[in-house]
Amino acid sequence: MDILDSIVIGAGQAGLSTSYHLRRLGIPHAVLDADDAPGGAWRHRWDALTMQDVHGVAELPGAVPPPRTTERANRAVPAYFSAYERAHDLPVLRPVHVDRVTDDDGILVVHAAEGTWRSRTLVNATGTWTHPFLPHYPGMETFLGEQFHTVDYPGPERFRGKRVLVVGGGASAVQFLGALAPITDVLWATRRPPVWRTDDFTPEAGAAAVALVEQRVAQGLAPQSVVSVTGLMLRPQEQEAARLGVYDARRPMFQRIEPDGVRWADGSFEHVDAILWATGFRPAIAHLAPLHLRSERGGIQLDHGGRGTTAVKDPRIQLVGYGPSASTIGANRAGRTAARGVRQFLARAPIAADVR
Ligand SMILES: Cc1cc2nc3c(=O)[nH]c(=O)nc-3n(C[C@H](O)[C@H](O)[C@H](O)COP(=O)(O)OP(=O)(O)OC[C@H]3O[C@@H](n4cnc5c(N)ncnc54)[C@H](O)[C@@H]3O)c2cc1C
Repeated sequence: MDILDSIVIGAGQAGLSTSYHLRRLGIPHAVLDADDAPGGAWRHRWDALTMQDVHGVAELPGAVPPPRTTERANRAVPAYFSAYERAHDLPVLRPVHVDRVTDDDGILVVHAAEGTWRSRTLVNATGTWTHPFLPHYPGMETFLGEQFHTVDYPGPERFRGKRVLVVGGGASAVQFLGALAPITDVLWATRRPPVWRTDDFTPEAGAAAVALVEQRVAQGLAPQSVVSVTGLMLRPQEQEAARLGVYDARRPMFQRIEPDGVRWADGSFEHVDAILWATGFRPAIAHLAPLHLRSERGGIQLDHGGRGTTAVKDPRIQLVGYGPSASTIGANRAGRTAARGVRQFLARAPIAADVR
C-alpha cells in the first residue's frame, strides 16, 4: 500500500485551508471527509440561519469571503466550499468516516469502513459538530415534552406558541432566545451568569480572547470555546427579545427535570413544553485515542504555547480547528501553520527506503 506524506481528516474550513497550503508546498496528501458533500458543519446548520445571522464566515485562503446575504448559511457556505474544492482541485475523498488512527512502526494507519490509508503525517480537522455535549440532569429521561440540542434545532417555527426553556450561556443560546422570544413563551437557564460585552469587539479584544484559550491548550487542558471567553453581545436580531426582557430573566440551572417541566432549587416548579439544550460541543477526536495524545489534564497539548498546531506528544500530528483555532478565521490560519508543521516534520524525518 502506498504511503502518503500527509492525510487530512475533515474537509471543513480547517481541512480545506490545510489542503490548500499542503498543495502550495507540494506535499502529496489526501483529505478524508465523512460527509457526502462539501460544506463541513455548515451543511447541517438549521434552515433559519442566514448569512446575515452568522457572526461572519472568514474567506478561505486565496478566495474572497462568502457574501452576507439573506441566503441560508447551510446552502451558501457548502456552495462556497464546493467551488473552492473544484477551483483548487483539492484531493477530497468522501464519504470516508475515519474510525481510528493507529501507529504501525512509525507509519500512521487511518482506518475507515471505506478503506485504509497509510501516511507519514496527519492533520486532524474534524471540528466539533459531530460531538454535541449534552449534560445530564436527574429526571431527564422522564420528560414528556420535546428536547433538542443545537445540533438538531429545527428553527423557531416548531416552537410557536409553546413554553420553551433554553439552556446554555453561549452565543447559540442568545441567538435562539432572540428568534424564539417574539413567538413563544421562553425561559433561559445557565450554569453561570452570562458575561456581556458592552464595548466594541475589536481585533485586539478578539486576540486577547484567543490567547486565553491558547493558554489552556498550552497546558494540555481541554479547550474552552473561544466565544466563552469573548463575552456575549446582542445584535440587532436580538433587540426585540431584549425589549421583552428574556435576557434579564435568566435563571440559574434547575435541580431536576420532571415529566412536565423543571424543578428549581427553591422547590418551585415551572411547566415547559420543550427544552432546547444550547450546551455546546466537544472536539471530535475519539478516532485519535489509539495514539494517546491526551495529557493527563484531559486535552491535547499543542506547541508554541498553544499557538501552534503540532501535538507536543507526537510531532507527526497537527490539530486544526481545535481550541484557539475553532473559528473560521482561526481555522484558516491554523491550516497554514499545520502545512508548515507537516513540511518541517517531513524534512527532519529520514525517509526509509522500504516505505517509498
Ligand atoms: C451554530 C454555530 C455557528 C457558528 N458561527 C460561526 C461564525 O459565524 N463565524 C465563525 O468564524 N465561526 C462560527 N462558528 C464556529 C465555526 O463554524 C467553526 O469553528 C468552523 O466552521 C469549524 O470548521 P472546522 O473545519 O474545524 O470543522 P467542521 O466544519 O465541523 O468540519 C469538520 C469536517 O470533518 C468531518 N469529520 C468529522 N469527523 C470525521 C471523521 N471521523 N472522519 C472523517 N471526517 C470527519 C466532518 O464531516 C466535517 O466535514 C459557529 C459554530 C456553530 C456551532
